[in-house]
Amino acid sequence: MAQIQIKNLQKTFSDFTAVRNSSLILEDGKFVVLLGPSGCGKTTTLRMIAGLEFPTSGQILLDREDVTYRRPRERDIAMVFQLFALYPHFNVRENLAFPLKNEGLPKAEIHRRLEEVAAILRIEHLMNARVGGLSGGDRQRVALGRAIVRKPKAFLMDEPLGTLDAEFRELMCVELRRLHDRLQTTTVFVTHDQNEAMALADHIVVMNGGQILQADTPEGIYHFPSCMFVASFIGRPSMNFVPIREAVLQGQDVIQVNGAPVEVPRLDETCSQAVLGIRPEHVRMSDSGPVRGEVSHVEYFGSHWIADVQTATGRIKAVSPKGVVPAVGGHVGLSFQTERIVMFNKDTELLLD
Ligand code: ATP
Repeated sequence: MAQIQIKNLQKTFSDFTAVRNSSLILEDGKFVVLLGPSGCGKTTTLRMIAGLEFPTSGQILLDREDVTYRRPRERDIAMVFQLFALYPHFNVRENLAFPLKNEGLPKAEIHRRLEEVAAILRIEHLMNARVGGLSGGDRQRVALGRAIVRKPKAFLMDEPLGTLDAEFRELMCVELRRLHDRLQTTTVFVTHDQNEAMALADHIVVMNGGQILQADTPEGIYHFPSCMFVASFIGRPSMNFVPIREAVLQGQDVIQVNGAPVEVPRLDETCSQAVLGIRPEHVRMSDSGPVRGEVSHVEYFGSHWIADVQTATGRIKAVSPKGVVPAVGGHVGLSFQTERIVMFNKDTELLLD
């Protein structure tokens, strides 16, 4: 197990900066997910941790030791790729044994480790099967086995579930998490899929434009997003943003939305232009709520309906009360759960505390 620290990490490809001035401590034994849209620098960050790419500047520390310019095999961390390079003509046992033979481990130790990994991944019955004939999911398990068997200090995974269909992806998420709970090996996992991130992570690191925007628990990211980008990237349907025209002053806890008074959490910061953020499940819809509007569209989510309500300050999505099917064209009133409101500075788009 290992603590991984990146310090002021920067990576520039000719004149394009893929990762900018990133600093982060990935705690020992945690499952950390790097999450962000395509091209935000997740893979480049992971490759620098692996030693497959050297940073333009900055440092990578493994258990407080500087490994920035060490080669991958000198770092004792295992990279699990999306399409892991298994040998299709070898059987599972041979594939798993390969890295251990390379390390020159004694036969008895190799045997012991293979038995252990086969039991952990529940692939005992596949040990003599040729990898080429396995299903995608079993192949994925063998790929994981190849990483586990070396007992590395950390696992690095780049969208390892990317090619699986939705149902299998979910199953593998549960397996990966169970595996992590058992092995407690520091894991860095890259994905652009927020559901995967939420299901797996102890900590989520949200990136955009080469920068780390927030590193926190899934709950922290969901309820207290550091900025409007994180707020809109996490959660479906997205958080509502309501522009507040009047100045929000320090200590003010009632503001006007759409001409109606809305109680907001007391702020310690002053800002002239603000945006109120609230998730649809924290907006109550009734006949009497203060923020008036007309239902313009409804969506069915199986367990609930979401109504799109057109108000004078824009559209606000709200979860319909249990058992109530909102009527398109109906006039409703919205009220916001005060403790769930977050406020952003409109200019910087950062969270106001
Ligand atoms: P994706 O999910 O699409 O892989 P990502 O968040 O992992 O995205 P990176 O692969 O880290 O993003 O790429 C970040 C940016 O750096 C992208 O714009 C990419 O085109 C660029 N980039 C990555 N590797 C190189 C390279 N070797 N040379 C030039 N540009 C590169």
